Amino acid sequence: MRPPLMTMSSTSTDVQGDTDLANLEYSADEMRQMGDATLARAVEHITSLASQPVSGEVDVDTYCRTLLEPAPEKGSAFEPILEQLFREWIPKSLTTPGPGFLGYIPGGGLYPAAIADFIQNTTNRYTGIWRSAPALVQLEANALGWIREWMQFPESAGGLFTTGGSMATFNAILCAREKHLGADIRPGVIYTSAQVHHSVAKSANLAGIMPDRVHRIEVDEQFRMRTDLMARAIEADRRAGLNPFLVVSSAGTTNTGAVDPLEVIANYCAQEGLWHHVDGAYGGFFYMCPQLRPLLTGLERADSLTLDPHKGLFLPYGTGALLVRDGAALRRVHTATGDYMPAMPDDPDNCYDPSQHGPDLSRGFPGLRVWLSVQLYGTEKLRAAVSEKRELALKAASRIGHLPGIVMDAPPQLSLFAFHLEWPGSTLDEQNVATTVLLDRVRDRGKILMTGCTAGGRFLARVCVLSFRTRQEQIDTCVQHVADEVKRILADHTGSGRPSRQPD
Ligand SMILES: *Cc1c(COP(=O)(O)O)cnc(C)c1O
Repeated sequence: MRPPLMTMSSTSTDVQGDTDLANLEYSADEMRQMGDATLARAVEHITSLASQPVSGEVDVDTYCRTLLEPAPEKGSAFEPILEQLFREWIPKSLTTPGPGFLGYIPGGGLYPAAIADFIQNTTNRYTGIWRSAPALVQLEANALGWIREWMQFPESAGGLFTTGGSMATFNAILCAREKHLGADIRPGVIYTSAQVHHSVAKSANLAGIMPDRVHRIEVDEQFRMRTDLMARAIEADRRAGLNPFLVVSSAGTTNTGAVDPLEVIANYCAQEGLWHHVDGAYGGFFYMCPQLRPLLTGLERADSLTLDPHKGLFLPYGTGALLVRDGAALRRVHTATGDYMPAMPDDPDNCYDPSQHGPDLSRGFPGLRVWLSVQLYGTEKLRAAVSEKRELALKAASRIGHLPGIVMDAPPQLSLFAFHLEWPGSTLDEQNVATTVLLDRVRDRGKILMTGCTAGGRFLARVCVLSFRTRQEQIDTCVQHVADEVKRILADHTGSGRPSRQPD
């Protein structure tokens, strides 16, 4: 026998009686006990998310060092570990799945995806190769196919579930590089906006495109890439003997939610023979909603598109997605085999081998969490949730934008907006400090977490509404808490027109 699972129900004789050390299988009863105990904790956790503080104590460096531990030689009981996880360690984090999480880019974590992960991990089938689990791989291909249709990509498009948006972009850059540069990589140049997500430069580097070959183009007053400057940079680089091959635009930046002029860039790339990749990690899923498509016109013409189901489709962390218009281009960069592998399918277009479309061979089964979530909710419900997030962001921005002292630097293009605080006579430094204080004070009230960014030379507070758990109630709270704290901060600074801290 193994060590006791539950401190309550097991006795130490279990441990002493362990005569079959190499047996790692749990009994049916033990598996049920572990599952039930975990489920009870998980459900309690989810149902109490709204009352959990929006950020646990995360300034715990010293505490973390006390957790350093060698691998235990003997196993221990399960229940105390669960207790530690749920009572002690999980609370020491940002409450990213909570309804008041409006920072960075939220996702939430749909429950069906957790169930799908449990099923994939307990059944542990091999989905790298179509032949080894054809029906399961077909489900993954179906889920990719649905996303392809939502994004209005052609049937000939290929796709891949990845671990996140960064890895989707990495694979897209590989496709563009292979098609346009072949072996002559060094002269190749990528163009992207100064506001682009840092994963683009990182992915480029991984794909062999060095930082000096990623040209960042300035943005307009709405933080969108200046396409006139882009065209000028491309012409200048061509004259200098370089080989412009790829434009990466953003369908919603992380800083301010800016959508680059996708249609203009699509036209330019078509005319100039460049690959156009769209980073839709934050904003791509808004395209699911037909009434919102005009906000992202041109997205459907991209050569490749990064999506993040763990953001805009509300899944738990761990799932990104890539679409490539020319599906064969994706397969071309990943086709590989070995003597121990089954023969390649005769008709690769008709059976999807994930390992021939991405870098992983042995892999999890990411398609199941997407597939099961869409099956259980239905697309209509997911679309309604996505479009509600935009509605909520519009309302929040309008109410916050009308507060005295608030300047809306970036009104919502999708569901993200950014603003700062100022008062007559205030300096940029004072405004930056006041905006930071605003974020801190709102967070300290425990219900709403916003994060900031530096853009356009100043510090901005930003609100990103994307968690499926964020509803009208949290928006009302957000507006109320921002209004209260703005009032307090302004009271400290105005009247005399200069900072007037009261002596205690
Ligand atoms: C989150 C994000 C990324 C990176 O995606 P990961 O899933 O975190 O790897 C890239 N671009 C944008 C716009 C994002 O919001």
